[in-house]
Amino acid sequence: MTSAENTVKKPHALELDQAQLTTLLKSWGEPGYRAVQVLKWIWTEKQMDPAAMSNLPAGLRAKLAEGIDWFLPEVHSSLAAGDGSTKLLLKTATGQFMEAVILRYENRTSLCVSSQVGCKLACSFCQTGKLGFFRHLAAHEILAQYVMASNMVRGEGRRISHVVFMGMGEPLDNYQNVVTTVRAMLRPEEEFGFGLSNRHVTVSTSGIAPKIVELAKDVKCALALSLHAARDDLRTELMPVNRRWPLADLKAALADWQQMTGGKITLEYILIKDKNCGPREAKELVKFIHGLRAKVNLIPFNAHPGLPFERPGDGEIRAFQKHLAERSIPAPVRYSKGLEVSAACGQLAAKQIENLSAIPSRKSVIGADAR
Ligand code: SAH
Ligand code: SF4
Repeated sequence: MTSAENTVKKPHALELDQAQLTTLLKSWGEPGYRAVQVLKWIWTEKQMDPAAMSNLPAGLRAKLAEGIDWFLPEVHSSLAAGDGSTKLLLKTATGQFMEAVILRYENRTSLCVSSQVGCKLACSFCQTGKLGFFRHLAAHEILAQYVMASNMVRGEGRRISHVVFMGMGEPLDNYQNVVTTVRAMLRPEEEFGFGLSNRHVTVSTSGIAPKIVELAKDVKCALALSLHAARDDLRTELMPVNRRWPLADLKAALADWQQMTGGKITLEYILIKDKNCGPREAKELVKFIHGLRAKVNLIPFNAHPGLPFERPGDGEIRAFQKHLAERSIPAPVRYSKGLEVSAACGQLAAKQIENLSAIPSRKSVIGADAR
């Protein structure tokens, strides 16, 4: 083998479709029909070790092990919280950390996945935002979070039926890899996907308006928008991305998304003491929702050392909720699961990541023209 051949990157098993795998197998002198057997192991059985693919000849198993990248991240830690959630800290091939959180409910199991290591968008209330950006996750790294979590809960008789992109990173800033991942999650198992329902896979975004419209064209999944304020100066203070795509642009994009998909949008609204949950902000929120088919989740802010805000008191939370309810906007209060192990989505692997030597780059997705 020449050194050039040595350095050719192996395709990852979770990023090979049937045609590509068939071609690869044939190039090794193997019959093309073996591709279906291999893909069943991967997508239905979530088996990522070719040695365990018992209906394949030993020679083929060895070739698969050699010619394809089967890497799954190492479980650096797995922390269980009393409320049934488990936070997984996963170490990637590059030695960086990504986090996934398993959320167990009585009648379903959800997984919160990360789409990037760090985030460029620097929201002032978010631990990931404080870290800066390290890199995008590849589609196979996002899919690996599902494979690993599925294998962990299988023994409990659970199947992960819901996925939310509410872990670390801004999914629409890693657009292509996220769309590839969502498509794989939605594909039926017989077509080598995870067979999830399109209402059960939710992309959560801080509001990259043009990508919201693109998403509607590219894939039919659920959408959550992290709103957190419905007045431009306040939203910009909390979420710098609002400078580039202010509320008017965002609302237009959401309306387009609704028209194209027929779906209902979830608006995530963190409640931060003395900041965004007074009567004025409640009115602004009602006005923003007008004309959209949306539901609101109210999320009391999760305090962390180093973050400048506090959680409001119960009275303030209830008053805000009441203002919405009186205008027929149901807005349940959702306490993030896994708080005790800081497993709450979006509150991520900060300690480990801060220890990494990589220097966060804050190259902005907002673009130079936004400054
Ligand atoms: N970047 C995407 C998805 C990841 S963040 C987004 O912003 O939507 C997932 C959710 O966690 C977002 O709604 C985010 O606003 C929320 N979040 C971040 N920090 C939080 C905190 N300290 N308390 C409560 N929710 C937080
Ligand atoms: Fe990034 Fe979302 Fe955190 Fe904002 S809230 S910094 S977009 S991960």
